[in-house]
Parts: sequence; structure tokens; C-alpha cells
Amino acid sequence: MKKIFALLLAVLMVVSLAACGADVPADNDAANGELIMGTNAAFPPYEYYDEDGETIIGIDAEIAKAVADKLGMSLTIKDMEFDSLLTAVQSGAVDIVFAGLTVTDERKESVDFSITYATGIQVIIVKDGSEIASVDDLAGKTIGVQAGTTGDIYCTDEFGQENVKQYTNGALAVAALENDQVDCVVIDNEPAKAFVAANEGLKILETEYAVEDYAAAISKDNAELTEKVNAAMEELKADGTIDDILAKYIKAE
Ligand code: GLN
Repeated sequence: MKKIFALLLAVLMVVSLAACGADVPADNDAANGELIMGTNAAFPPYEYYDEDGETIIGIDAEIAKAVADKLGMSLTIKDMEFDSLLTAVQSGAVDIVFAGLTVTDERKESVDFSITYATGIQVIIVKDGSEIASVDDLAGKTIGVQAGTTGDIYCTDEFGQENVKQYTNGALAVAALENDQVDCVVIDNEPAKAFVAANEGLKILETEYAVEDYAAAISKDNAELTEKVNAAMEELKADGTIDDILAKYIKAE
């Protein structure tokens, strides 16, 4: 008799637990097994379109997929403008942002960051033969940047809004450099390498403008997801998956 009672109690507990689970709001996509990632897919090799023009590939796409797999979720990637990504994650339009996104104290006020998974360096692209040879030559020059990026923020702070021209993506900033609408472009080193390789007559200066850490951003209202993503990323770091993904896209010089 006691046994039956214990069994009944156990069944009751499981049923009530399941009922609690069903209380998760329906619009919480991550809880429904779908992880929606926001990115700006014009940032090779972190995120860009495959030759088919439809599939977003790159380091962030692969890390996000590996994280989603670990969490038993499907991954959906939404391409949007870089400077709307943080608002999108804050409003719940996306669950997570993977976008070669730099961790900054200011951004930490609006979103939570995962553990970091890569290093980014803000570098300067100029035309061959440019009189700009280092960061010290930037004052008074017209600088092209991608709107809302750390390159934009640092250059605007240091050299003034009037000297900084914002573009919606790095490729457009580089096109402006080729057309002499700007004197240089300040952007992250890996996309810089890709843009310079794709366009003749450009070079990356050796002096680094800033060294930064990349991490994923998650809403401050979703601490549970941040915890789960961090646990998955720790495992993917420890078993070498993240290193392998980085090495696949970033060839050692
Ligand atoms: N790392 C830079 C930033 O976070 C640029 C990222 C990007 O353009 N995708 O601001």
C-alpha cells in the first residue's frame, strides 16, 4: 500500500512539473527548441553568404550551430543591419547575436555577453601609396567605418563626428575608399583581410588601432539561456571544436 502511494505521489509530481514546463511563454522561441540568431552577414570570415547567395556561413554560423546542437535546439539565422542587432536581442526579436561582436562596457549595460571565443583587432585599410602610415596620421583625415561598430565609436570619439563617414557594411566603406570618398577604413582585421584580398591596390597598416574580444550577446532577461550557452561554449572550447572552426576560416600566415 505504501509503495502504491509513493508511486502515485511520484506520478503526481512529474505531472505537475510538466505543467510548469508548459507555462513557458509561447513566444520564447529558445524554449521551444529554436535558437534564433541575429547577425550581419557581410563580415567575412565570421558571417557571409555562401556562393549560392542564400546560406549564411562562417565562424559565427558554425559556432552557433554547434551551440544549438549541444542544447538540442535548431538554429535559425536572421540577417539584419549591424546597428540594429542589440535592439533586436533586447526586444526578443532574436535570442542571441553572433556577429564578431566586441565586448564593451557600454554594451554590457544593455545586453549580457557570453564567454569570449575570439580576438578581434581594429586595423586601418588604406590605398597603396597613401600618406597615412600609422594611427598617428589619422587626425584630420576622413575615416570610413561600418555604422555602430567599435571602429565607428572609437574614431568618432577620437577624431570627431565630422571626420567619420558611416556605411551600413564594411564592403561599402571599402568601396568608398576605392572611390576616394574616404582616406582610410577602420574595421576588424579578419574582414579587412578579406576585403583587401578581393580588391587591388589596398593594404592593411601594421599598427593596430585596438585589440578586442568577441562574444555572443543575449538579453538580460534571459539569464537561463546565457548560462546554457556558456556551458555549451565551455565544452566546445575544451574539446577543440571552437579552435577547429577558427582554424578552418582563418589560415595561419
Ligand atoms: N567587432 C566590431 C563591433 O563589435 C564589428 C562587428 C561587425 O561589424 N560585425 O563593433
